[in-house]
Amino acid sequence: MNFPTTCPHCGHTVQTEYLDSGIHDLTCPNCQQRWVLFIRKHRFEMLFDLGTRALLMGFAREAVSNFASALERCFEFYLKAALLERAASEHRDLLVVSRELDATWKLLVSQSERQLGAFAAVYFSRQGQAPDFLTPQSLQADFRNRVIHRGYLPREEEVDAYAARLFAIMNRLLEELGDAALQVTVLQEREYAAALDLLPGNVTAVFEEHPGMFRTRREQTNPPQLGSPASVPPTPRSAASSTPSPVLNDAAAFQTALRERGTLVAELFGKRKS
Ligand SMILES: [Zn+2]
Repeated sequence: MNFPTTCPHCGHTVQTEYLDSGIHDLTCPNCQQRWVLFIRKHRFEMLFDLGTRALLMGFAREAVSNFASALERCFEFYLKAALLERAASEHRDLLVVSRELDATWKLLVSQSERQLGAFAAVYFSRQGQAPDFLTPQSLQADFRNRVIHRGYLPREEEVDAYAARLFAIMNRLLEELGDAALQVTVLQEREYAAALDLLPGNVTAVFEEHPGMFRTRREQTNPPQLGSPASVPPTPRSAASSTPSPVLNDAAAFQTALRERGTLVAELFGKRKS
């Protein structure tokens, strides 16, 4: 998947391929100078944007697998954010906790049913309520399986409805996470900072935030407190559970986001490699 970026040395527009790490080591074909581009985006955001782009370009079937993957990665995001939030509240070293968390996740990574089980337990522990959206009906699991595993060719309106459902679930999770989402963002920033440290001094680093369908929190809503810079103060449990989940009409919420941000996503990723 390609996107355009601008050479910081000469202003030339370069099409480059999005990399899983979010870190792109680039050399300008115009001025031959090197720079490293860091994209501030989470995996689930990227996958949902790719699905949106596919949907807007008429590739309804391809969109389904991107949306489905985005949801799974959003569950992973929630789980990690919630567990890091708890570790921060216990003043534990978040880098150590993160390594332990990665080791734990490795045990689940190849089986989505295990991931779902872990997510459900963590969700219940943090929110104090059952993840009622995890039923096969709510997740439209049958539709997903027909498309992905049985070669069903879905109509665009079916994919629209599927995307709207998943969008609503993911939005709800992000709202419930609140500032806890920053825990994962801080880790990404730390990874980027470590990569930045390894670069020779003469290489320019550029950080970009791309438009996306989600607005994952990247700044604290609470005033900063003293303590480790990597530690985001946890959301008080009472605040987390007393915030009512918004009652959304899935289709309306998705269409509003598409109008506001979908075209930006399509424009960003719409061009082919030149
Ligand atoms: Zn250049």
